[in-house]
Amino acid sequence: MDRDAFTTTPWQDNFEIRIPQSPDTKAPFDVIIAGAGITGITTGLFLQQAGKKCLILEAHTVCFGTSSATTAHLNTVLDTSYPELIKKFGTASSRLVAQGAKEAIGLIKEHIKAYEIDCDFEEKKGYLYAQNEKEDDELGKMLEGMRTAGIEAAPGSSIPLPVPFTTAIQFPGQAQLHPLKYLKALLHQFLEAGGAIRTGAPVQKVVQKEGIQEVYSANGRYSAADVVYATHIPPGINLLHFRCAPYRSYVLGIRLADHSYPDALVYDIEDPYHYFRTARHQGAPLLIVGGCDHKTGHADNTGQLFRELEAYAAKFFRIASIPYRWSSQYYEPADGLPYIGRLPGNNDHLYTATGYSGNGMIFGTLAGRILCNLITGNDNPYKTLLAPSRIKPVAGFSNFIKENADVVRHFIGDRLSVEVPEAFAGLGIGEGRVVKQGGQPIAVYKNEEGNIFALDPVCPHAGCLVQWNNAERSWDCPCHGSRFDSTGAVLNGPSQKKLRQLNR
Ligand SMILES: Cc1cc2nc3c(=O)[nH]c(=O)nc-3n(C[C@H](O)[C@H](O)[C@H](O)COP(=O)(O)OP(=O)(O)OC[C@H]3O[C@@H](n4cnc5c(N)ncnc54)[C@H](O)[C@@H]3O)c2cc1C
Repeated sequence: MDRDAFTTTPWQDNFEIRIPQSPDTKAPFDVIIAGAGITGITTGLFLQQAGKKCLILEAHTVCFGTSSATTAHLNTVLDTSYPELIKKFGTASSRLVAQGAKEAIGLIKEHIKAYEIDCDFEEKKGYLYAQNEKEDDELGKMLEGMRTAGIEAAPGSSIPLPVPFTTAIQFPGQAQLHPLKYLKALLHQFLEAGGAIRTGAPVQKVVQKEGIQEVYSANGRYSAADVVYATHIPPGINLLHFRCAPYRSYVLGIRLADHSYPDALVYDIEDPYHYFRTARHQGAPLLIVGGCDHKTGHADNTGQLFRELEAYAAKFFRIASIPYRWSSQYYEPADGLPYIGRLPGNNDHLYTATGYSGNGMIFGTLAGRILCNLITGNDNPYKTLLAPSRIKPVAGFSNFIKENADVVRHFIGDRLSVEVPEAFAGLGIGEGRVVKQGGQPIAVYKNEEGNIFALDPVCPHAGCLVQWNNAERSWDCPCHGSRFDSTGAVLNGPSQKKLRQLNR
């Protein structure tokens, strides 16, 4: 299976989601959903079951985005901690978030049961652990916050990892699965229920005409009453690009020389934190270790981050082999909660769901339910708390300023700090770099045959300069996270245009 990267995840390896292109996609639909990841597929299924005629338009192939690179922990304990949620949104809202996370796991379980999905789903305990006095204090507050929000949790005297710790907490009710086995089955149910799909169909523009949404894609024009951008981040330039910051996270799939695989979901509380689980893969356990997160386009040598993660894992585990190394993208919301609902600044029939942090299995599922309720005119308990139009001046303000100051720095600063031309000659096979020629920055890449590809490094989305990501052989925009392959084609929005090619 393809995804928006050079590396392969264990879920993709030897796995196919083959779907027939739906033949009749010209008739007006009730809802068009852009994007076939967990958000798009779940939303499509709920809407189709609610009697809406739906079409999913996927730019590339099914699960081309982060849904095939997730580590698929199903959590009620989220990246934004409960003390933080209580401080920013109040106790009642923190309880609502906890309720939403439990509901999302419940919905996934219902699907698995109803459709008899074999997707390696297992309920697990979760563990968080501290490694010094400062973290002990933080962990104590996390336990208190979890309990206030209604999450069952208790101090623990052990953790299921060979890692030294000072204090720990444990919490039941977590789970894990194989994301692609789950989503393949869900997509099948969507099609069985009469839903339609087209792949290789990037949505480029939506125009409202006489109350109908005309959807322009690379392969044709479609129409619907409502449109959902389930594209992880909506395309184009929108308020949400200033409320969400793109980050990348790194993962190893490790075979151990002993049996110290954790039978739980485990997390430290460093910043960035490490996360652990075990998957059953090709008949043997696979330890999944993640971490080294950074803002997209902000690491000079992304390949080095795999080595750092490996060195970290090797301190505690006896590594036999590392068959998988991969990285992928997620979006941090300014105030700590995702944005799910109507897309601000547009007509009332455009919807989106973004800003999930590392909890998109949960929020992508919940988004399906919320968006279905909004579109079918039903109430939903989370619609106000998670509305993209919410104004949280206090909650989001410091992050908002920080993320956007950074965008401005990249917009202006990168133009002054590009490298000099000798770099052109020193470029290795499979390497890319932004160099300066005649005062102009050029993004150059040398392919396996030694041919140089020269691109305009100015991201067509908002004009920042892209940076080379050597781990995934992509050009990544440090401002809003658009990503392009070595030839300049779009891998991730929000950019809808490719990088301009300078040589042929
Ligand atoms: C390394 C890593 C580990 C993670 N682990 C976890 C975890 O353990 N638990 C958890 O809950 N979450 C986790 N997450 C987060 C979670 O995986 C994501 O939030 C989630 O997969 C996002 O799903 P999505 O459907 O919204 O987006 P995606 O899966 O990215 O799907 C979006 C789709 O839209 C398509 N698309 C884009 N633009 C267009 C367009 N214009 N027209 C049509 N189609 C378009 C793309 O090709 C893509 O297929 C992790 C994230 C990372 C990076």
